[in-house]
Amino acid sequence: MKLVIKFDGCSISTSKNINKICSYLKQLSSTNEIVVVCSAINQTTDTLMKIAKLVEAKDKKTINLLISKIIKKHKQIARRSINKQIIRNRLMKKLDTDFNDLREFLSGALIIGEITSRSLDYLISFGEKLSINIISHTLLNLNCMSFPLTGKEVGIVTDSNFGKSKLLVDTTELNVSKKINSLLDQKLLPVIGGFVGADQYGHITTFGRRGSDYTATIIASCIHADEIWIMGSTNGLMTADPQITINSCVLKEVSYAEAVEMNIFGIKQIHPRAFEPLLKDKIPMRIRSAFNIANTGTYISSSTKSNIQKPVKCIHTIKHNGLIDIRGSMIGLQGTAAKIFSTLANAGVNVMMISQNPSESSISIVVQKMDLDKAVNSLEINLLGKLVKKIDVTTNVSIIALIGSGMRGTIGIASKVFDIISKNNVNVVMIVQGSSELNLSFIIRDADCNSVVKSLHEEFHLSKQ
Ligand code: ASP
Ligand code: MG
Repeated sequence: MKLVIKFDGCSISTSKNINKICSYLKQLSSTNEIVVVCSAINQTTDTLMKIAKLVEAKDKKTINLLISKIIKKHKQIARRSINKQIIRNRLMKKLDTDFNDLREFLSGALIIGEITSRSLDYLISFGEKLSINIISHTLLNLNCMSFPLTGKEVGIVTDSNFGKSKLLVDTTELNVSKKINSLLDQKLLPVIGGFVGADQYGHITTFGRRGSDYTATIIASCIHADEIWIMGSTNGLMTADPQITINSCVLKEVSYAEAVEMNIFGIKQIHPRAFEPLLKDKIPMRIRSAFNIANTGTYISSSTKSNIQKPVKCIHTIKHNGLIDIRGSMIGLQGTAAKIFSTLANAGVNVMMISQNPSESSISIVVQKMDLDKAVNSLEINLLGKLVKKIDVTTNVSIIALIGSGMRGTIGIASKVFDIISKNNVNVVMIVQGSSELNLSFIIRDADCNSVVKSLHEEFHLSKQ
C-alpha cells in the first residue's frame, strides 16, 4: 500500500514515543510505501506565536528565555532519540543551523519591533523544520533510510495569503508527485513538515493552525495514496465526549460527510479543509492513536451506506454559548435577515446556528460566549428601534448535535429525541435540522447538557458498536 501517515505534536513529544513510532514506521516500510508528515513537537508553534507577540512588545528578555526553552527541549529529545554518534552529530549540526537562523531573524525583528503576517509565517514555520530532522534522523539511526523535507522543499505552492494560504493545486501536484515518487523509487522514506508551504516568490506561507492535517491530505492526493492515517492521542472519532459519558466508544466507520459534521464539534479536531483533497480520488482516512498502534481507529471513506440500525452515530456538544432572540416587524420585509447578518459580520461575530420561524416574527441565533457582547452591542446600535423591536439574550446554553447519515428519511428520530429530553424534564430552547438531515441540533441550558447527552447515548445504544 501507498500510505501517508501524519503524526501530531503530542505523539512526537518524547524520545520514547519517537523511537516507538520510528520502529513501527521501519516495520511498515518493509511491505508498504510510506510517506510521513509531521507537526511541530508539542507546544512549539504556540511558543513561537507567543514570541511573535513579544517582538511587538520588544521584550527581548522573555524572548531569549522562550528560545532557550525551545532549543533545550529539542536538543534533549534529539540526544535521547539517537544513540549513533555520527548521526547524532549530524542532527545537532542541522538543528544548530536552524536555531541560528531563528535567532538572527528575531534580532532583526526586535530592532523594528514589528511582525508582519509574512514574517509571522516564517517564524512559526520553524517548529516543523526542527521536528522533521529529529524524526528523519531517528529513522536513520534505526537503519531506515529517510529524507527530511519542509513543505516548501517538497513543492507545496500556495497563494500569498499569509496565515491562511490557499493551495495552488496544479503546480503543487506536479512538484510533489515528482519529488516524492523519486524519493520512493530510491527506497527513501520522506519525512515532510506539515502546515507550511511557499508562495510563487518562495516566501514561506502557512495553512493556519492544525494545518499539518491539510498538508498530509494534499500529499496523499498528489501521490494517489491508498490510505492516509492521522495519528494522534485519541483512538479515533468517539460516539460522545468521554468526559460526559464513560460509555462513549470509538466509531469503527463513518463517511466523509459525517466526519466533516463531527469535526465542527471538535472532539478530535482536524483542519477544516483537510477532507477536500481526498474527495477526488476517494482516498480513505483513518484516525488512529500513535500510542495504541494495535487499535485500527476510525475509518473514514466515501461510503454512504447508511446504517439503518444506527441512524444516529454520535452525539456531540458545544457548551457555553449565547442565544440571541431578535424580534421585530420583519414580516414580509425583504432583506431583514441580510441586514442582521451583515451587522454581525461587520462586528466580526461568527454565527454558529440560525433559526427563523415561518411567521417571520423572530430570528434566533447562537454565538460563542466570547462574541456575545459584541453581537448584542452591534445589533442594538445599528438595528434596535428600526428593524428590530426587542433583543432577548440567554447566556450559558449548549448546542447538542446528533450526527448520522442514517437519519435521512428515517421516521421518528426527532420524536424519540425530544421524548427523551422531556422525560429528563429539560426545556429545549431552539431546534435546527438542515435539509441534509445529517445533523439534528438543539439548544438547552449548559446545566442540562451532560444528563441529556448521557440519556440520548443510552437510548440510541451508542455504546454498542
Ligand atoms: N504546528 C502547527 C500547529 O500547531 C500545525 C499542526 O500542528 O498541524 O498548529
Ligand atoms: Mg499541532
